[in-house]
Order: sequence, then structure tokens, then C-alpha cells
Amino acid sequence: MDTVDAIVVGSGPNGLAAAVTLARAGLSVRVYERESTIGGGARTAELTLPGFRHDICSAVHPMALASEFFRRFDLVSRIQLRQPEVAYGHPLDDGRAGIAYPSLDETARGLGIDGPAWHRMLQPLVSEWRGLTSYTGGSLLRVPQNPGVLAAFALRVLEQGSPLWGLRFESEVAPAMMSGVSAHSILPLPGLAPAAAGLILATLAHGVGWPIPVGGSQAIVDALVNDLRAHGGEVVTSTEVTSLDELPPHRAVLFDTSPKALLRIAGDRVPARYGRALSRFRYGNAVAKLDLALNAPVPWANAELRKAGTVHVGGSHAQIARAEATVAAGKHATKPYVLVSQPGVVDDSRAPEGSQVLWAYTHVPRGSDVDQTENIIAQIERFAPGFRDTIITHAGRTAVAEEQLNPNYVGGDISSGAATIGQLIRRPTLSLHPWQTPMPGVYLCSQSTPPGPGVNGSAGWHAARRALAVTFGMRRAPYLGL
Ligand SMILES: Cc1cc2nc3c(=O)[nH]c(=O)nc-3n(C[C@H](O)[C@H](O)[C@H](O)COP(=O)(O)OP(=O)(O)OC[C@H]3O[C@@H](n4cnc5c(N)ncnc54)[C@H](O)[C@@H]3O)c2cc1C
Repeated sequence: MDTVDAIVVGSGPNGLAAAVTLARAGLSVRVYERESTIGGGARTAELTLPGFRHDICSAVHPMALASEFFRRFDLVSRIQLRQPEVAYGHPLDDGRAGIAYPSLDETARGLGIDGPAWHRMLQPLVSEWRGLTSYTGGSLLRVPQNPGVLAAFALRVLEQGSPLWGLRFESEVAPAMMSGVSAHSILPLPGLAPAAAGLILATLAHGVGWPIPVGGSQAIVDALVNDLRAHGGEVVTSTEVTSLDELPPHRAVLFDTSPKALLRIAGDRVPARYGRALSRFRYGNAVAKLDLALNAPVPWANAELRKAGTVHVGGSHAQIARAEATVAAGKHATKPYVLVSQPGVVDDSRAPEGSQVLWAYTHVPRGSDVDQTENIIAQIERFAPGFRDTIITHAGRTAVAEEQLNPNYVGGDISSGAATIGQLIRRPTLSLHPWQTPMPGVYLCSQSTPPGPGVNGSAGWHAARRALAVTFGMRRAPYLGL
């Protein structure tokens, strides 16, 4: 069998970030991917009709712009990331909507009476977004370099994640907006982890924007794969790794998988204590997806939403909190929270002229096999009368189907592990170097390690840096730019 320096199991954005980092350090690298296509949660495909290109998983990429890995990789020079005029919007039943513009000032002006409070909440974070994300982009056990912004962030997390959440605001719109961003966490509201996720996402909307790649998320993957190949790396598709013994001789192997898969693949080589720790790692609730081909843009009642890259559908804070509490209780919400992305606002390459693709998902209990097509369509129609008439066809995916598509999404948990505060610190184990396992040369590089969910490549970057230092004795970070 041929020999390689490093093997990466899984070609998601983290696996590829790890592979690029290792190849740039001069190592021979091979990636094994179980699917016939490369890219895990950042692939784009014709899911409905020929010519309609849908993002299978991720669609909107604030974290790609904020991440240290992608900044070093100079992603912005390699692909076109376009900023919608409205980063995200949030409709209410009476026709009002919260609108997050790239400018925090403009956003605050649109929020009327709550504008100053929204501005005061986000301004200290927006002006220091680099300091904030440089801390939250790695293990939370480190000593922060910017304690000031972290203290401001912590105070706001305590406020927005506790019964105090509503004290700051007087109208319904700003709390609904905050719920919309916080609910990305798939956790009950209010809560510390949802508040942290919501504040970071809201900060990034004004710090770097919520961009959409021209051509779809696949453009990010293609940039990574091109760079990997240019530096001698290779990707072997349609090959599922089921045991360490089947791998060719290597010095390091990095798993872009869930801890559950690592346990299965490494089998009895896993030390008992580490195995118990991985078994204690908890998976979160799940997602059911819907991709639609439309013959016109969504006819949102509030016209500003027609410019939004992302729309948070679900209504008021109380309505979204109720929907998320229902999911947390293991049931399906009849009026669920729905995340909608409309790439057509900036990218007309996704669908034939005059038509659109629409991307949507909702939250469901882990392991659900209940189709959510009707619930999602009804929720969008609620804020966009006439929406049903624009639908040409659609393709839905239950939570169970999410896991069949990608075993990292255990039970349909797209975060590969609940993103609770505890599990953001202990991800998947409590360690200064959680990417390194006690097995020599074996590393975990998926979103089940810090910093957790999102297309940021950071877990892959950190894991590869650790492997370079420990297994290969290389402490200097390789150059990743063009
Ligand atoms: C519906 C949905 C919407 C999302 N929206 C966004 C968004 O808008 N923005 C955002 O930033 N993030 C979003 N995400 C999350 C984002 O996709 C993930 O955080 C990201 O893809 C995680 O990257 P990863 O490399 O850790 O793992 P993954 O992307 O899950 O990749 C893992 C890869 O490993 C492969 N694999 C697993 N086991 C094996 C094995 N044994 N052998 C070989 N190959 C294996 C899988 O097939 C897969 O290709 C979304 C996810 C989903 C599902």
C-alpha cells in the first residue's frame, strides 16, 4: 500500500481546511469522502429541476468572512461573495419588519423607538468584531486577548439569555429580530447559548455582512479543493472509511466526522476514558429542509424583505420561543420558526432567467421523519401572500434524511453536537487542545470541535496546526494566501 503523510476523513469545509493547511506545510495529503461529490455541508446541486442550483446545506457565510482561516486563505480574492442590501429581515403579522442593513446606524434608524437600544447593544461588539471572533473562533479555555470586548459580550449574553431579555426594548420588532438570530442555535429561548449565537450573528451582519457566494456554497469548496490539488493533495470520493485498519500507512489522520463516528472507526484503539467522554457528547435537535424552484421572487408583504439575503420567519419573540420550546419538548411546532435564504437577490446564476431558487429549513426533534413541506410553505405564505402561486416544484428532506445524506448530522443535528454553553467549552472533551485525541497521530477536525458550527474552516485549521506541531514537529503556521 502507498504511504501518505496525512489522511483526512471527510471533505467538509473543516476537512478541506485541514487538508489545505497540511498540504501547504509540504506534506502529502489524501482526503477520503464517502459521497460521490466533495464538500459536505457546503455543496450546491440541482435538487429540483435542471438549471436550478440549490445549496444542499449552508447558504449564507458571515463566518467565512470572519474566520482567521479564510482570511489567511484570502477567500475573498478567490471567489465572489456578494452582500445583499439587507443582511437579514424579520417580518411580523402586521406588515412591519425588522431590517438588518449592513450599516448599524441605518438598522437602528429603522427600528424607531428601539433603535437607540439596539445600537447600544451591538455597537461595542461591532466596532471590535475582530477581537470578539478571534476569541470565539478557537477553544474557549484560552486566555482572551481582548478582555474588554469579551466583557461587553458576556454582559449582553447574560441580559439577552435571561428573563431580562425584554427590558431593553419597548416595541415588538427588536425582540423578534433578536429571537430570529438567536434561534439559529436550535435551543430554547431565552438561553445563554442562543443569546451568544444571536449576538455574534447580529454583530457580524454589521461587521462583515451576511454574504452569499456567486454560484453557491460549492464555490467555497471548489476554491479549497483547487488549492489542495495545486499543492499536491488529492481527494478520493465514494469511499467511506469504516476502520482505521483499512487506511494506507500514514503519520496522522484527521477526522472530519462526529465523535460517534470516530468511536466506531477507531474501535478498541480508543482509550476507555476518552471513549467515555466521547460517549457523553450530546447531539442536539434537528433540521428539516425544503428547496424550492419559483417562477418569481417571494412576494413579501413588507417590500424591504425582497432585498434580504436571509429572512427569519416565525413572527414575534413569543411565537418563536413557543415554537422552539415545542421542538425542545420533542414535538413538532405547527407554526415553526423557518430560516429562508433567497440567493437570487444577489446571484442570478442560480436559476434560469425569470425564475428563482429558495432555500428554507425549520427545526424538528432529533430523529424526526416528519415532512415539513406544508408547515414551511404556510409560514412563508403568512408573511408573503401569493407565495404558493410562485412555486414550480420543491424537494424536501426530513431530519432522518439529513443524517442519511451526511452521518455527521446525527439524527439531523446539523451542528454535529448541541451547541450549548457546556458543549462549546467541552467540545467534545475538556482540553486546551480538543482537536488532539489521546491516540497518537489521531485528530478530530469537524464542527464537533471548537469553535463549533458554521462554514469557517476553523476547526480544520486548529486541528491541522496541532497535528503539524505534535506529529510533524512543525510549529510555524504555513502560508495559505495566493
Ligand atoms: C441545512 C443546513 C443549513 C446550513 N446553513 C448554514 C449556513 O447558511 N451557514 C453556515 O455557516 N453553516 C450552515 N450550516 C452548517 C455547516 O454546513 C456546517 O457547520 C459545516 O458544513 C461543518 O463542516 P464540517 O467540515 O465540520 O463537516 P461537514 O460539512 O458535515 O462534512 C463532513 C464530511 O465528511 C464526510 N464523511 C463523514 N463520515 C465519513 C466517513 N466515515 N468516511 C468518509 N467521509 C465521511 C461527509 O460525507 C461529509 O462530506 C448548515 C448546515 C445544514 C445541514
